[in-house]
Amino acid sequence: MTDRFETLEKVRRADANFSCMAFVPESLGQPAGGPLSGTFLGIKDNLCVQGMPAQAGSKILEGYMPPFSATAVSRLQQKGATVVGKTVMDAFGFGTFNANTYKVPKNPHDVSRAAGGSSGGCAVLTAATGIPCVAESTGGSISAPAAFCGVVGVTPTYGKVSRYGLIDYANSLDKIGSMAATVREAFDLIDAMAGPDALDSTSLVPAPMKKIQGKVAVVSELFEKAEAGVRTVAMQAVEKLEQTGVAVEEVRLEHTENALYAYYILAMAEASTNLAKFVGLRYGQQPAPEESETYTDYFTRVRELFGPEEKRRILLGSFARTAGYRGKYYDKAARVRTLVIRELKNLLEKYDALLMPSMPCVAPRFSDIEKLSPLEHYAMDVCTVPANLAGLPHASVPVGTSQSMPVGLQIVADHFQEGIVRHYGEAVEGQRT
Ligand code: GLN
Repeated sequence: MTDRFETLEKVRRADANFSCMAFVPESLGQPAGGPLSGTFLGIKDNLCVQGMPAQAGSKILEGYMPPFSATAVSRLQQKGATVVGKTVMDAFGFGTFNANTYKVPKNPHDVSRAAGGSSGGCAVLTAATGIPCVAESTGGSISAPAAFCGVVGVTPTYGKVSRYGLIDYANSLDKIGSMAATVREAFDLIDAMAGPDALDSTSLVPAPMKKIQGKVAVVSELFEKAEAGVRTVAMQAVEKLEQTGVAVEEVRLEHTENALYAYYILAMAEASTNLAKFVGLRYGQQPAPEESETYTDYFTRVRELFGPEEKRRILLGSFARTAGYRGKYYDKAARVRTLVIRELKNLLEKYDALLMPSMPCVAPRFSDIEKLSPLEHYAMDVCTVPANLAGLPHASVPVGTSQSMPVGLQIVADHFQEGIVRHYGEAVEGQRT
């Protein structure tokens, strides 16, 4: 029992220092038996855990108590794992720095800098305490904070982990993944929660692992887009991999920029429909209606609780799928998505994996984030969006530092080739200096 008490103290301390927790329970209860007995886990606040509130980083869900647990979480609990609390995030996952929310986590390596988002709380908890976390990515929310905080972040193939019990951002893009101090731990966590689930019709039986060919490609333009320090550190990791006998070639993606535009149109369109249910009737905040207030007035008042980024995405997403504009934006973005998938799948027939910096920069200072326009903010996802748009498995692995801040290398493999991502992840991890 003492380790349970001490673990909770560690979590509270991390929260006091770096503002990483959305909820911490009073006590951790009795330990359960099973293969994960003695494993402690943080859970991103958009995953439902019975007995704990779920707010998904948004004011509108304040006070929401889900009546059940997400499949991913209950599988881990059934194997004996203990949940130490819920971790903070950008509202509904809308962001790259975890600054679009009511409680903003700080980077443990430098508290004047962002933790990254949207799974910022997970990365901070893991970096500060070593406790692994269940995280989630739509367009880069695992790789970004993992890279900025110097931990391993794994985003599995779309459909590998059931999304049942996830407060959706964009259903065709959301993937539940993991964060941990080591590659092995992060992948073991995926294995423990993966597998088909009758409650999520998009969950899939994995394909068998392909044979490793010993050939990878670096995506040149993503190295070029990165700031010099990040580029150098990420390239050094690739060179060390090459010295172990792996063949490294260079490729260029034709659709990198377009992938970014397509992602934001599709993600916002889906988000705008998902957020339509938050009208004060079923979930979260349900203020008393005022006398003679119409339904429209009531739900308009409730929806004022959305923050500026939530409002922006509802407006842009609704616009992109409105009759008259749908063909110009939504349909076109869906076609671009197919081109991105085709391009990446073709390359992954030739190469085991594609390598790129996880982020184009080290964790930025809050004072610099304030100066970014929404479009500049979105452009920060240039390295993470292609793999996410295609539902391909990937990991961000820490490979060194620039300006005393962690740098992550991102490894992308073909659908269900988590084993290949793990293989190269362990290879670069071992070389960390
Ligand atoms: N930064 C991206 C966005 O804001 C991705 C976030 C995510 O994966 N949830 O949409």
